Amino acid sequence: MRLKQQQLCGWGRYPVQACLCYRPEKLNELGPLKPESIPRGQGKSYGDAALNAGGNVILTERINRFAAFDPQQGTVTVEAGVTLAALLDFLVPKGWFLPVVPGTAGVSVGGCIAADVHGKNQHQYGNFAQSVVSLELIVASGETLEISREQHAPLFHATTGGMGLTGLIKSAKLRLLPINSSYMLTQNFAAENLDALLDIFSRRKEQDPYSVAWLDCLGHGTQLGRGIYTAGRHAEPDEIGRDGRQPLAWHHRSRPLPLTGPLSLCLHTATARQFNQRYYKKHAARTTPEVQPAQKYFFPLDRFNNWNRLYGKKGFIQYQCVVAEAQAAEAIRSMLETLQNAKVPVYLGVLKRFGSHKSGLLSFPMPGYTLALDIPLRTKAVFATLERLDEIVVQHQGRVYLAKDARLDSATFAKMYPDFGQWRSIKQEYDPQGLFNSSLYKRLTGESGR
Ligand SMILES: Cc1cc2nc3c(=O)[nH]c(=O)nc-3n(C[C@H](O)[C@H](O)[C@H](O)COP(=O)(O)OP(=O)(O)OC[C@H]3O[C@@H](n4cnc5c(N)ncnc54)[C@H](O)[C@@H]3O)c2cc1C
Repeated sequence: MRLKQQQLCGWGRYPVQACLCYRPEKLNELGPLKPESIPRGQGKSYGDAALNAGGNVILTERINRFAAFDPQQGTVTVEAGVTLAALLDFLVPKGWFLPVVPGTAGVSVGGCIAADVHGKNQHQYGNFAQSVVSLELIVASGETLEISREQHAPLFHATTGGMGLTGLIKSAKLRLLPINSSYMLTQNFAAENLDALLDIFSRRKEQDPYSVAWLDCLGHGTQLGRGIYTAGRHAEPDEIGRDGRQPLAWHHRSRPLPLTGPLSLCLHTATARQFNQRYYKKHAARTTPEVQPAQKYFFPLDRFNNWNRLYGKKGFIQYQCVVAEAQAAEAIRSMLETLQNAKVPVYLGVLKRFGSHKSGLLSFPMPGYTLALDIPLRTKAVFATLERLDEIVVQHQGRVYLAKDARLDSATFAKMYPDFGQWRSIKQEYDPQGLFNSSLYKRLTGESGR
């Protein structure tokens, strides 16, 4: 089965090349690992992390069995191809949730560990790896190792956030979060500009277990960086109201986006500006606490299974970075002004706060603020502007998220990830021939895979 590398990677400097894909039905069908291989979960990373131009890709979607559920200990053990959607379908009606979920449930457990994903509670809880008790990893020699913070600890810290380059995650034992309802209690706080928004994040960091802000990146002058901060926490059954709501109801389903007309007409700067204006006004007026289903709060885009088509044929690029807290206002303002001066529109901006939890060696989160920008790919000029953004990020001790990246060069990567040397010596110990390799790795290192 052949999978064509995303068109995105063919823009500019990277050629489009096919990868050979293998999809074992069971782990014992995997056979000896082929040189130049990378595991792939649900392929929801935005760039080339789960692609391998000219090499092999191991599809893990059928490696999706549930192994154990222990309600006494609050843990579940699953194969790596299980999706968060499938896990939550199983767990929520029993009163459990995953301590960390990203913005979509359509991702695999293996993908979440390999990218050490974060959620809206990173500032209080940490990353996905925080909930991993232990995992089984098939390393380059073919051997399966059980790894954790206690066993093979360096390999554990290289694998969480290691983008699939230390081995194939076979299964994982995850710690769970008890919940009394499948609803969230949320509250909006409007901020007229960036300083006001950062001030809300800073003031509420201890009291809000979950928080996220929508940012109007098309606002100018005094409105630059205005946004809506949304606080959230799991609701108690007596808070969810009457309306016949079942405390642990869970219906997480997607449907096709009802698109009509030529797709390229879907989103434009003028419509995005109008949308932002309306969104800000509507949510700024709704400041009383609200109850909403957890799936709506955590996974708003999952309601439609092809929302990305809104960006038309050329698609979009997501740029996600984190910058140090002390310089966040200056860095974010400078990034937004750079984009506006270059006339590069941003249709969606999301801001979150990160805390100081220790992560894997290549994990993205660090203390500060993370900004995610959805930018339509209309011209190649976008790439030159993003390189300018990289410079601002480096100047402010930050980094770009590898799970969202398709364009960072090796020199900039080295400045953003100072622990790469330490990570690479662990990879070399377990994978001396560089068997695990990906398009991302080749691009970031200019090396073959060792
Ligand atoms: C709408 C949307 C919202 C998102 N929101 C967030 C967010 O809020 N926070 C966040 O952190 N991320 C977010 N992401 C990114 C996403 O969570 C990560 O890219 C995640 O890694 C995707 O999981 P996947 O199963 O699709 O993995 P893939 O994209 O298939 O692979 C990602 C990486 O994991 C590796 N990998 C996958 N399976 C295995 C395995 N079994 N063993 C070893 N390595 C493996 C791959 O080699 C690759 O390097 C979002 C993505 C989308 C599309």
